[in-house]
Amino acid sequence: MSERKMITAALPYANGPVHIGHLAGVYIPADVYARFQRRLEKEVAFICGSDEHGIPITIRAKKEGVTPQDIVDKYHEIIKKSFSDLGISFDEYSRTTSKKHYEVSQDFFSTLYNKRKFTEEISEQYFDEQANEFLADRYIVGTCPNCGNDGAYGDQCEKCGSTLSPSELINPKSMLSGNVPVLKETKNWYLPLNEYENFLNEWIILGHKDDWKPNVYGQVKSWLNDGLKPRAMTRDLNWGVPVPLPDADGKVLYVWFDAPIGYISFTQEWAEKNGKNWKDYWQNENSDLVHFIGKDNIVFHCIIFPAMMKAHGDYIMPTNVPAFEFLNLENDKISTSRNWAVWAHEYVEEFPGQQDVLRYALLSSAPETKDNNFTWKDFQTKNNSELVGIFGNFINRVAVLIHKYYNGIVPEGEVNAPELAEITKAAAEIKNFLENFEFRNALSAMMNLARFGNQYLQTEEPWKTIKDHPEKAAHSLFVAAQIAVGLAQISEPFMPFSSEKLLKMFNVSQLNWKEIASEKILIKTGHQINPAELLFSKIEDETIEFQIQKLENTKESNKKTNPKANPMKDEIQFDDFTKIDLRTATILTAEKVEKADKLLKFTVDTGVDVRTVVSGVAESFTPEQCVGKQVMILLNLAPRKIRGIESQGMLLLTNNADGKLVFVTPDETVENGVEIG
Ligand SMILES: [Zn+2]
Repeated sequence: MSERKMITAALPYANGPVHIGHLAGVYIPADVYARFQRRLEKEVAFICGSDEHGIPITIRAKKEGVTPQDIVDKYHEIIKKSFSDLGISFDEYSRTTSKKHYEVSQDFFSTLYNKRKFTEEISEQYFDEQANEFLADRYIVGTCPNCGNDGAYGDQCEKCGSTLSPSELINPKSMLSGNVPVLKETKNWYLPLNEYENFLNEWIILGHKDDWKPNVYGQVKSWLNDGLKPRAMTRDLNWGVPVPLPDADGKVLYVWFDAPIGYISFTQEWAEKNGKNWKDYWQNENSDLVHFIGKDNIVFHCIIFPAMMKAHGDYIMPTNVPAFEFLNLENDKISTSRNWAVWAHEYVEEFPGQQDVLRYALLSSAPETKDNNFTWKDFQTKNNSELVGIFGNFINRVAVLIHKYYNGIVPEGEVNAPELAEITKAAAEIKNFLENFEFRNALSAMMNLARFGNQYLQTEEPWKTIKDHPEKAAHSLFVAAQIAVGLAQISEPFMPFSSEKLLKMFNVSQLNWKEIASEKILIKTGHQINPAELLFSKIEDETIEFQIQKLENTKESNKKTNPKANPMKDEIQFDDFTKIDLRTATILTAEKVEKADKLLKFTVDTGVDVRTVVSGVAESFTPEQCVGKQVMILLNLAPRKIRGIESQGMLLLTNNADGKLVFVTPDETVENGVEIG
């Protein structure tokens, strides 16, 4: 058994907050595993960070009119805080825009380049002539050849789920300009994955049939059966890690090249801060590398990244890649764009101090072998019947009765009581389940111990025997105290907040797993315990109704709103608005601008002065149609030169349903120079 555990959790994508699907399918199981390995006294590095490159971030930035950096700065902070609030115990949570990550991923690329592991290929790629940019597949929309969906992307149709290439789309259009893209030659560097087929086959197909999850094994097998093709490791894009080669201007590393290297660069950041050697974790056979991921990331973690590491030559391969299926919400697929989710940061605010309830509920319905479902009713039942009714009830009775009868001092009991074996049994079961990535079974083993304790008290009835058989009552509460402390110890990986409270309540320190499994007595006769503290409280129907109503509202607003409308921009303050000087004005003259098909030059009476404004409306209006129109002008916009003409202000315009520009005008004629606001 390896002494070190290098545990990674899939890098969350920094274009939105984290929801319960992410938590149930990656982060909570990974955290349970990492905490458990620490209790086994392994040297653990539990590493994660925000994935901040890639096309969806640039698309979102364009839509919101901000920079990609603005987007990732915002979500990195939200995601990081959610993880910390929910007790996800990363040793390092960094981001792929960190300086270190640029260095490490560029160095990785250069190593492969110098070892001649890449092939150079010239390919034809779609190019937007107006925007002067190569178009990533995601930037091309058109009609799906399989289902006829008009909004299919160049890489995938989200309606029918089929994988596409841009050339398959019917009527492809650039999302940047709306124009038809043209094909243009470009050079990129490819990793010939086909050359790694034998290696992957021997390592995974022959080597891990029995210990890897069937969904992971099956997907890898099917990829290998289909045969692997060279895959481009660079892209023509301006957001990402620049390709470290002299002839690679305007090219960045493929996001799935740089993102997994993030695990390595973040480990280096952690190691530097903590006096560790990162190579012990990544380049030493005495280390177990384990990737926690969702099922959509299997190919990247079981084929592409291993091929990259193999090509590099210095790295160990993962010993396991536990991939989870998806979690649905109220029987519907979780969707960020439809806001159909329970967001981690909202949960933390709306259920203060109840992080362990979410951890427990999500673990007990973790989508381990098939997609699973989260419902608020089920969440309530798990809290009220299991956490409050069994676990909390048992602990509370033990603590209260020991205070009531023995002033908080653990009474005397038989140290060879057969019931004590239940504690070591639970510890052994949990160990066995967690080593096989069976989180739900492990959680059940913990809850079964609480159930056992609860039943034991119910049968023994120390509140009755205390009168006529005080020795029996003492023994019962001695045994019950052992079980309660056993729960305090074994619940830590699953419910760290409650475990901490419990250890304090029983005034004991944390043991490692070996000690729990071997020590007979976890709390001695004569030990003083602290007053009982409430661990869990009942969740009322109103609380659950409120959450269900919130989802109903989402459903309603999804129906009503314009699906094509861009998301709201970042909130501004009233002071920001008052800086804007909007006025009514009238167009006095209008003429075409030479050699500019789209522009008209206006003179405008703003009430304050008469000034020149250039506007891109020539495709929607003739000059004659504009003269005499009352419009709205942004008066204090800094003057800009457009085609040599100084434009002093901006006329407000919007689009009608056909895409034609229309002026924003007051709904009755008013004086010029009147302020708008
Ligand atoms: Zn389709």
